Amino acid sequence: MTATNATQAPADTPEARRYNRIRRRLEVADLALGFFVLTVLLLTGWTGTLRDVAYRGAHQIYSLAVFFYVAMLLLISKLLGSGLDYYSFRLEHRYNLSNQKLKPWLRDELKGWLVGLGVATLLVELLYFTIRQFPLHWWFIAWGVFIGLFILFAQVAPVIFLPLFYKFQPLENEALRQRLVRLSEKAGTQVRGVYEWKLSEKSKKANAALTGLGATRRIILADTLLQNYSDDEIEAVLAHELGHHVHRHILKSIAVQAGITLFGFWAANAVLHYALERFHVFETMSDFANLPLLVLVSTVLSVVLMPVLNAYSRFNERQADRYCFQSIARVEPFISSMNKLAQQNLAERHPSNWVEWLFHSHPSISKRVAAAEAWSKSAISGLPEKRVASSQTIYS
Ligand SMILES: [Zn+2]
Repeated sequence: MTATNATQAPADTPEARRYNRIRRRLEVADLALGFFVLTVLLLTGWTGTLRDVAYRGAHQIYSLAVFFYVAMLLLISKLLGSGLDYYSFRLEHRYNLSNQKLKPWLRDELKGWLVGLGVATLLVELLYFTIRQFPLHWWFIAWGVFIGLFILFAQVAPVIFLPLFYKFQPLENEALRQRLVRLSEKAGTQVRGVYEWKLSEKSKKANAALTGLGATRRIILADTLLQNYSDDEIEAVLAHELGHHVHRHILKSIAVQAGITLFGFWAANAVLHYALERFHVFETMSDFANLPLLVLVSTVLSVVLMPVLNAYSRFNERQADRYCFQSIARVEPFISSMNKLAQQNLAERHPSNWVEWLFHSHPSISKRVAAAEAWSKSAISGLPEKRVASSQTIYS
């Protein structure tokens, strides 16, 4: 596209294109493997065998059997997927994007698996408890419980889950902290903290995010970003993250997720009844051998909705970018930070439209840069007066 090539975003290197193509294929392969495992378990009846093994191991105690079943299911998936995981680890090294050695990586994999087991056990136990207690309305009640847990997890993620894998410390750069305080005050809002995220122990890539809810709400900035970006560029990144905060994107995303999950539970109930009454695959609704069917329903739903959710996410990202343009004095640091990020993370600046539409939660770098340039031009011609006011607030 000539329009995007005319921007300050340079063309992609063959290396970047190749790396991103492989990453996408890995994602698709991982998804296909998940489908395959679930379908095989259901079609061969092996899910029933696993359930019987779990029951025997648990001496017929239902909730213990559920735990054993979940553990076996997760173990099988992990073992079958370990080839792809290892390939992905090697890929980051091959493209010189990783700082992580094999042993710490294996430790992280184990930790991730255990956390996954803990969370999955909690969810599945609650799910089948609800099915047993409320056979008719379980899907609606379970939905309410799951949403409550989503909110709880979003709240504790930055203080419990993230620190399991990364170190964090309050941002020490006083000048930057001051800038953020000024940005927040101007927005009439308050972010509880900015933290340095020690990403460099594992990766050469840079990143930043807004995480948490309520008291745990915070902006995290990778040390890989803090080391290599000018204060103006970091301010642009901060302003973007603050844009997510001002527009309440985390809360809105939870609301969207809640709507989809409600439909998902309703659909799962319908599919489960159909399988039970039509094919007599499972003995009862509370027969946890039907878990792969429930997971399959949610996987199909998330794949089908992936382009829609990504479009929604890109909409939010554009909104946060616009907030950033309004808040900073000049858009040039935003543009240079985008170009640096693309180079450092080996991102594709100009992905094809269908790739962006299907896979990307963020607009392409070239589009973000073009939007910044367009904003800057319209500001020069005197359209948004806000921008002039904001630059005075920051640099007066
Ligand atoms: Zn963002």
